[in-house]
Amino acid sequence: MKHICIIGNSAAAISAVEAIRERDKDSRITMISDEEYPAYCRCLISYLLAGDISEGKLALRPQDFYTQNKIDLVLGKKVVKLDPKKQRLTLADNEKIEFDIALIATGARADFPDIKGINKEGVSGFRTIKDAKDCLTWAQFAKVASVLGGGLIGLKAAYALRKKGLDVKVIVKSKHVLSQVLDETGAAIVQRHLEHHGIDVLPDQDVAEIIGNGQVKAVKLGSGKVIGSPIVIVGKGVKPNIELVKESDIKTEFGIITDEYLKTNVDGIFAAGDVAQCFDLVRGAAYINALWPNAIEQGKIAGANICGEKKAYAGSLAMNSVEFFGLPIISIGLKKTEPGFEALEFIDKRNSIYKKFIIKENVLKGFIAIGKINNSGVILKLIRDSIDISSIKQDLVSDSFSYARIIDLVGKDEIYTNIPAY
Ligand SMILES: Cc1cc2nc3c(=O)[nH]c(=O)nc-3n(C[C@H](O)[C@H](O)[C@H](O)COP(=O)(O)OP(=O)(O)OC[C@H]3O[C@@H](n4cnc5c(N)ncnc54)[C@H](O)[C@@H]3O)c2cc1C
Repeated sequence: MKHICIIGNSAAAISAVEAIRERDKDSRITMISDEEYPAYCRCLISYLLAGDISEGKLALRPQDFYTQNKIDLVLGKKVVKLDPKKQRLTLADNEKIEFDIALIATGARADFPDIKGINKEGVSGFRTIKDAKDCLTWAQFAKVASVLGGGLIGLKAAYALRKKGLDVKVIVKSKHVLSQVLDETGAAIVQRHLEHHGIDVLPDQDVAEIIGNGQVKAVKLGSGKVIGSPIVIVGKGVKPNIELVKESDIKTEFGIITDEYLKTNVDGIFAAGDVAQCFDLVRGAAYINALWPNAIEQGKIAGANICGEKKAYAGSLAMNSVEFFGLPIISIGLKKTEPGFEALEFIDKRNSIYKKFIIKENVLKGFIAIGKINNSGVILKLIRDSIDISSIKQDLVSDSFSYARIIDLVGKDEIYTNIPAY
């Protein structure tokens, strides 16, 4: 009976363990996580902070999930080393765990830039339940909060703190918010909407220092301007948690390199989720699209292949869907044209409606929709399957465009794939 060790206890790990138990009821499974909580939906922590949902609503599986699936769950322990040769894990307290097969589903963590004062009390990433609960406590005593970074996670934190009634400053190094998700036109619409709801966006700004004696008091910008702020949220991107394999032969770049079976270059070692660098359907190269549905799908496939199957993963896509103060935003694939690409656009600034299609050789490579997001599932299908759109191209931006227009291209049984709400 083999011993399968899963490092991580979130989207990728849970879907992998379910895929394994569907096929193998007997093998011993140990799941190890350095968080103190059973698996929860990380995507919803901002709603906990906003007071929209209670902590119990974050739970990903019922309380008896681990016993029902005969899983030895180890919480609050960090794996510091994975030794493929010895088939052994070393935990931070030096405990050793032997394994036959290992799945690395360690995800990613908030990336903290090297700024003076970044370690002060009151400064936090926004990745875990603990981060959200810390912010909840601090928000009781604060009137102002600063968010470093205008990406999806930073803006989700800003939105939640604004809903708590705080004055929120979003300090963005790039020229506009959501620079990884939208183009300039789309970002300007979103920024105007956020400002209309009381969030101050400060683009093109650098943070020189975080000021305070132990506890943060203010943020000093590169311009010299000082913003009084007892809360600072760091939303400057994420870093895959790959340190545990650094001393091994497992290939890494930004993340852990996997093949289409989510296998690493070392036998018996798999990787899935935000830590895994695997094929991107639009870029046509290994890339990390750190998103929940990608982690779930990769976990499922890794789980099946851990049980000896040869299930291939088609590849991941950058697909984001989020809503701020009633304004829905979707972006899939590329957001900017490159040489040899063309773009079709529709914009209605007064009503905050924007649509953009990015096309290369009659294949959709990217899509942005703001304000009106109908048919996005259809567009996702066209992008994911690289369908030739030459016969429908001119209809894409029209309001009357719908699934009916592409039935001949995709067939009837492929109706509406969901886009994950960010
Ligand atoms: C605020 C927020 C909102 C988000 N909203 C969305 C959304 O709406 N839609 C969407 O698609 N995506 C969203 N995401 C991204 C999504 O949460 C991630 O893509 C997803 O959680 C990745 O799952 P994972 O299993 O790969 O890793 P993670 O969820 O990062 O989990 C990894 C687990 O492994 C543990 N771990 C790491 N290293 C070790 C170690 N060395 N030893 C032991 N344990 C370890 C971690 O503590 C963690 O529990 C959001 C993320 C955040 C932070």
